[in-house]
Amino acid sequence: MSEREFDVVVIGAGAPGEVAAGRLGEAGLSVAIVEERLVGGECSFYACMPSKALLRPGELATEARRVPGVAVGELDVDAVLARRDEVVHGLDDSSMVPWLEDRGVTLVRGHGRLAGEKRVDVGKDVLVARRAVVIATGSAAAIPPLPGLADSSPWTNVEATTAKQVPPRLAILGGGVVGVEMAQAWSSLGTRVTLVHRGERLIEREEQFASEQVLTALRDGGVDVRLGTSAASVSRNGAVRVELEGGATLEADEILVAVGRRPRTSDLGLETVGLEPGGYVEADESLRVEARDWLYAIGDVNGRALLTHMGKYQARLAADRILGKDVRLRSDGGASPRVIFTDPQVGAVGLTLAAAEQAGLTVRAVDVETSGNAGGSFVGRGASGTARLVVDEKRQIVVGATITGAEVAEALHAATIAVVGKVPLDDLWHAVPAFPTRSELWLRLLEAYGM
Ligand SMILES: Cc1cc2nc3c(=O)[nH]c(=O)nc-3n(C[C@H](O)[C@H](O)[C@H](O)COP(=O)(O)OP(=O)(O)OC[C@H]3O[C@@H](n4cnc5c(N)ncnc54)[C@H](O)[C@@H]3O)c2cc1C
Repeated sequence: MSEREFDVVVIGAGAPGEVAAGRLGEAGLSVAIVEERLVGGECSFYACMPSKALLRPGELATEARRVPGVAVGELDVDAVLARRDEVVHGLDDSSMVPWLEDRGVTLVRGHGRLAGEKRVDVGKDVLVARRAVVIATGSAAAIPPLPGLADSSPWTNVEATTAKQVPPRLAILGGGVVGVEMAQAWSSLGTRVTLVHRGERLIEREEQFASEQVLTALRDGGVDVRLGTSAASVSRNGAVRVELEGGATLEADEILVAVGRRPRTSDLGLETVGLEPGGYVEADESLRVEARDWLYAIGDVNGRALLTHMGKYQARLAADRILGKDVRLRSDGGASPRVIFTDPQVGAVGLTLAAAEQAGLTVRAVDVETSGNAGGSFVGRGASGTARLVVDEKRQIVVGATITGAEVAEALHAATIAVVGKVPLDDLWHAVPAFPTRSELWLRLLEAYGM
């Protein structure tokens, strides 16, 4: 076993790990990044990218149907799956590696484990970090201890995003973001989907109207959504049989488990630096692990915000901190910008009305139709949606925004700037939206507030 020295060692080459390594490399530090599977991580191959590739054709067909004059046929399933494969580069990461090489980062293939302070064991080598180790090992789907589930070859996001065939019937456990996106994607490709969700509403961290609109869209698209229902046991004998609490059963060809994530920390050597294996690695606002000024945790593994863009933001801050800058998170947790890529899309940032009230803020919400303006008429017929601002009455700033409707993802960033920048309403009033764009919803919202 040999020892190799670097300024910084990053464990995990998902998007956050790559960004941290690249930024440090660009600044002239010697950096090693350890990856046991694919450079690019879950997001590039088994999550964000393939899920959006599967959703987009169905979304486009729905949108085209809203605009008279566009001929829309059936989806070409083989072509959709082929395009998905193209988007994930056939699960080959060789196109990702040059980005690291260009920044002088050394890629070490293998499983990394901490082996005491500033040391990472990769089997044949020990990488010794002069300055810092960054943990960026991400998360995997949590499989709940339901009788029979683990033995029924359940799908996680990995199979749900890479399946080569369209299952005739798919049962989905969980009505969070992954559950609703995958329900709509596979349903659009011809699968009969049954979604079982324990809660009384889907995507329950979002505004109630967003949950209701996504529920309506799924049901209108033929998805059998069962709310307030839990699976009691699962068995497979060819087909999968799910017994629901209360005695009802359902049958499917595959079952997708989408009930949450678990951090990848059980075999990471955390115990060698006095940390508990298995849980999230807590990091402070400068992404450092408490009482270990050489150790950082970024991305899903710290549990702060399980989103690629937030992991990459954390990566930039952690790298800057390692480079000696005094930086801290200003955008974080559940208030982070987020998009659910169903039709209708849900884009949200900051607090929902309920979360703001729970936080003790004096707030007022104003709502308008997302497409209730001239720009909206071009989105087509029946492209409904709601835009909401949650205004802090005392500070006269927007603390939360949710926009639902067709193609609203790109509209979210204006709201993010307003919320993160704490732009006073008086100033927002002078940010004039162009005509005829749907951005005039900002004008309508401010008018609804009384400006
Ligand atoms: C279906 C689905 C869709 C999603 N869609 C979106 C979306 O549209 N937008 C969005 O922002 N987020 C989305 N997410 C969330 C997003 O995928 C994650 O937030 C993101 O992948 C987190 O990046 P990460 O680097 O922290 O973890 P990961 O992407 O999991 O990367 C961690 C990497 O570390 C490696 N690794 C782990 N342990 C070790 C070890 N000991 N040694 C060496 N290597 C190791 C892994 O192999 C992996 O490559 C989605 C998630 C799912 C499940």
